Amino acid sequence: MSKHSVTLIPGDGIGPELAETTKACIDATGVSIDWDIQTAGIDIMEAEGTPLPDRVLESIRKNHVAIKSPITTPVGTGFRSVNVALRKELDLFACIRPCKSYEGVRSRYQNIDLVVVRENTEDLYAGIEFEKGSKECQEVIDFINKYSARKIRNDSGVSIKPISVFGTERIVKAAFEYARQNGRKKVTAVHKANIMKYSDGLFLEVARQVAKQYTDIEFDDRIVDNMCMQLVQTPENYDVLVLPNLYGDILSDLCAGLVGGLGVAPGANIGEKGALFEATHGSAPKYKGMNKVNPTALILSSVLMLKHLGETEAANRLEQAVAHVIREGKYVTYDMKADRKDPTAVGTREMGQAIIDSMKVAAK
Ligand code: NAD
Repeated sequence: MSKHSVTLIPGDGIGPELAETTKACIDATGVSIDWDIQTAGIDIMEAEGTPLPDRVLESIRKNHVAIKSPITTPVGTGFRSVNVALRKELDLFACIRPCKSYEGVRSRYQNIDLVVVRENTEDLYAGIEFEKGSKECQEVIDFINKYSARKIRNDSGVSIKPISVFGTERIVKAAFEYARQNGRKKVTAVHKANIMKYSDGLFLEVARQVAKQYTDIEFDDRIVDNMCMQLVQTPENYDVLVLPNLYGDILSDLCAGLVGGLGVAPGANIGEKGALFEATHGSAPKYKGMNKVNPTALILSSVLMLKHLGETEAANRLEQAVAHVIREGKYVTYDMKADRKDPTAVGTREMGQAIIDSMKVAAK
């Protein structure tokens, strides 16, 4: 009997080839997984009438763990993003993005090792918005103008920024738990509490309270603009960052940029009842079916998944094999070559095979 049951969503665009390669790498670690393969995305929209059939959610609810290749968000069809829908439906409130330098990846920086923990459900991203000129917007403006000393102009659109004690407690706890489980030393809360006293101020206050329960891990905080400057000047001073949704979105990309970009940026979306692992990049439709793109981000996401499953030794072996192949720079995809037109670049599957071979050599 398999030790773990995992939902695998092959996605669309470049998704299926990345999923196939990643699955092969995971299976090659020897960890016994019963794969529940669930299609979703634009390729199944016509047949099933939705890019996210209920069976996909049911499978994740049953298995509690899923790995997902990118899925296209079609423009102008009325379908909302499957990626956002999955996070909402499963209440995956924490987005964890480790940003680590690997030797051989072209980047302005070396030795970066940061983890961004982003709150996924609140803040300006909660989707509570009122369109300029609408009746509801005018009512909101009238209400605010009645109760607030500061006035809103009548020709404004309004987006609401809720940050709760509940939401902050669980994300900051998630950051500290991640730090503990992964041997990290410090958690930094990022905010703009000096200006937004009742939303970011609350975030900071609750973060300070939660930090008192984790005396084994250092805690500090930074104002978000200062944090951006420090990340590009002295990133080595930081370890785990915990942020409300919007700052988390922006700083995730900043940190991905420090380590060489989207091709190597893995991610995990974690909730109380489930975890979904996925690369940060999208479905790059122009490369669909070409066996061309870099599988590293999804394979590194699977490293996070193996750790989540308690398979730390296998996760470390797989990560070391990825690092080895990138460092060697021979069996890597076009985007990892100095010249993107380098004819020695290999395809997605071949890079995956090189990673599998490297694990086999290391085991000898
Ligand atoms: P994208 O990340 O798909 O592609 C942007 C460019 O980055 C590509 O053209 C390619 O040059 C490069 N790239 C991306 N992944 C790569 C890889 N693995 N190897 C090498 N190069 C790679 O971003 P986009 O074009 O803005 O989005 C395309 C679709 O993906 C959209 O429909 C978008 O909504 C969706 N999307 C999905 C997710 C997700 O599934 N979580 C995330 C982001 C975007």
